[in-house]
Amino acid sequence: MSIKNNIAHFQQEIMKRGARLVAVSKTQPLEKIKEAYDAGQRIFGENKVQEITVKQPLLPPDIEWHLIGHLQTNKVKYIAPFVAMIHSVDSQKLLEEINKQGKKVDRIISCLLQVHIAEEETKFGFDAAEVMALVTGPFLQHCPFIRVDGLMGMATLTEDVSKIHNEFKQLKSLFETIQSKKIPHAQMKELSMGMSADYQIALEEGTTLVRIGTAIFGERDYTKP
Ligand SMILES: *Cc1c(COP(=O)(O)O)cnc(C)c1O
Repeated sequence: MSIKNNIAHFQQEIMKRGARLVAVSKTQPLEKIKEAYDAGQRIFGENKVQEITVKQPLLPPDIEWHLIGHLQTNKVKYIAPFVAMIHSVDSQKLLEEINKQGKKVDRIISCLLQVHIAEEETKFGFDAAEVMALVTGPFLQHCPFIRVDGLMGMATLTEDVSKIHNEFKQLKSLFETIQSKKIPHAQMKELSMGMSADYQIALEEGTTLVRIGTAIFGERDYTKP
């Protein structure tokens, strides 16, 4: 399968479910990203600030660049001028910095709160109670340069399909609970869940964004600079 065919295939399958494709282009060379772009893909996801800032000026300006990996506060300034969405917001301190850098470049930056739903103990992400406290508390009202548009989560890496369903269900449920509160600065329009291995499950559980890398571009080559 070519990248072109893969993009057509995934876009169709994902659009049918009312969701959108984030093509995860981390480690992929510019030529491959261009191939996906020429096939009509416009949303690309990268997980490193260093990489996204190198690629962005070299590729067409109508690409929507999404940051999907852990973001250090001291690097927000490099992406604030162009990033379309940050999926991996995992602390209030980071939100504060995104707001500050958004203000400097006069852009309201779209953020998703990363929630840990997997059984693995990860360093990154909020738990459900922390997300609830954050969106219902006063903090976001003082951050006019960020918009919390939704939630992001990663399921446990497992063959156990019902476990993955359950983890996505949990996140969807939190998403809907917050949505029902109609909080002006946390509208819950986007839910980002599902990768190459589990995107079908995420679609069944009602995600709006899926992040697919290897199934489009092939295996990543981490040995290249
Ligand atoms: C790399 C990555 C993906 C894509 O993973 P694939 O298995 O290649 O589809 C999705 N989300 C995040 C956060 C990633 O870092």
